[in-house]
Order: sequence, then C-alpha cells, then structure tokens
Amino acid sequence: MKFEVTILGSSSATPVFNRNPSAQLLNCNEKCYLIDCGEGTQQQLAKFNLKAARIDYIFISHLHGDHYFGLIGLLSSLHLNGRIKPMQIFGPKALLEILEIQFKYSDTVLRYPIEFFPIEADEPKLIFENSDLTVKTIVLNHRIPTTGFLFQQKKRQRKLIKDKAENVPMAYYTALKKGMDVELPNGEILRSEDYTVAADAPRSYAYCSDTLFDESYLPTIMGCDTLYHEATFMHDLLDRARETHHTTAQQAAEVANIIGAKKLLIGHFSSRYKTLQMLFEEAQAGFENTELAVEGRTFQL
Ligand SMILES: [Zn+2]
Ligand SMILES: [Zn+2]
Repeated sequence: MKFEVTILGSSSATPVFNRNPSAQLLNCNEKCYLIDCGEGTQQQLAKFNLKAARIDYIFISHLHGDHYFGLIGLLSSLHLNGRIKPMQIFGPKALLEILEIQFKYSDTVLRYPIEFFPIEADEPKLIFENSDLTVKTIVLNHRIPTTGFLFQQKKRQRKLIKDKAENVPMAYYTALKKGMDVELPNGEILRSEDYTVAADAPRSYAYCSDTLFDESYLPTIMGCDTLYHEATFMHDLLDRARETHHTTAQQAAEVANIIGAKKLLIGHFSSRYKTLQMLFEEAQAGFENTELAVEGRTFQL
C-alpha cells in the first residue's frame, strides 16, 4: 500500500531562496491528505504534477500565516475548477471564521461543501479514521495553540499466497486472510498460515510543525517510524529558538533519538539560511538517518 509524503514547502515565516512555506502532501493508498497549506501551495502542487482535485482532507497545524495563507487560494481554485465533492478541513476553530469572512466579502458560494472539524490544542485526540489510517493530534508548545498530526496506518489483513490460493474456493479467502483456519465440506482443514503471509507492519508518520523542544509531546509520537520535525535554527541560536518557540536542528535529532524514530525529516528552515547543508549536518551528527524536507522530494514512509 502506498504511504508516502511529498514536500511542497519547507520555509519558515516567508517564502525565500525558492523555498515555500510549510505544506506537505501525504498519499496513503491513493487517498491524498494535505498537511498545512502555506502561501503558494497550489502552485507547488502544479509544479510537481500533483492534482489538487485529489485532495479530500486538509490538516492545518496552527494559524501562523506560513501554515495556511495558501488555503483560501486553493479552495477558491477548486471551486472555479468545478469541484463538487466535499472537502474535510481539520484546524483551529477560528480558521472557519477566517475562511467564511473571505468568502463572504468576495460573494463566493462554493460549489462544494466544506466539512470543518475544529481542533483544540489541549490534549492528543483521535480526529480522523478510515479503513487505511487514523490521525491523532500532537499537542505542541508554540506561541499560539498548535497541533502536529500523527498518521498511523491500520493493521492490514494477511495476504494470499497466489500459487497456493488458486486451488482454494474464493469463498474461503476472507477467513484465511483474517488468519482463520477453514474446514472444507470434505473435512479437510486449510490452515491460514499455509495459504497467506503476514502483511507489512503498519507504519506511522508524525508531523511536528512549530514547537519549542519540549518533553510534553514526546509520549504521543513515541515509536513512530518517520518523524518530520521543524528545525528552524542551528543550535548556536538556541536562545532565539527558545524565544520564538522553535527548535534547533540538534534538538530535532534529539527528539528522533528519544522516540526511537527510524527516519528524521527536518524542515521549516529560517530565512537566514541560504543553503541548508549546515542544518543537515548538525541534525545528522545527532541522528544518522536524517533527510532535508525540501520541495519536490517524496519520501516513502
Ligand atoms: Zn511556522
Ligand atoms: Zn508558527
């Protein structure tokens, strides 16, 4: 099952050095989830040949502009392009008011419904679930209420071994895939483990957008496979990071180590850094399997 994320924006605060503000597109089993929507997100989708129309779920971490200024533009374009299927949006309560006031004064009535789900940044909660995955909030420590998002695949059924299963009536497939042994009318027992193999272990992806390095959110993301963590500054600017409720590259690596992540993606880079190599090296010194979450890169989760 496909489970991958494409980076659309990696800049903090302002678009600079060809870096766009925060946005990522998660594809799980060909369903598309947009995570944050900084200015220019729709152009970034087009640039990387990703279809905005395929997005059915949008998750906004907080109301600093670098995480949602692209939303009104994206929603408007979908309307102009004839979308009629609903869009589910998860974000801080005031986001709906912000959207509505813009639609009101542009006299826009969207052709498609927005289903809005307000998020409180008080405790981690399950906010979304379908047959592929669950999404939980991660309560972060930022200057305004902020949540990250933990995407966890669900455990999948065992997979049929094709060669062996072709001699078995299809009516028994469901039970075998569920791990149950079945008895044929002639009394023969088919053991699930002879006809199926275990599915790949479910994987998880934690998106930690803007936060002070803090122990409070670590239990929520403990053991997650891939961690995206902001790394706005180098560690020599620790004081500045604390002041602005952000994290350094070194601290992002520390988080990855503490929670036992398999891979770390760092992003949300300050506009003071024209190139990112130093941030990368600082994080990698603390956590080997680090990657830069730069625009256009797709990571298998
Ligand atoms: Zn930000
Ligand atoms: Zn912020």
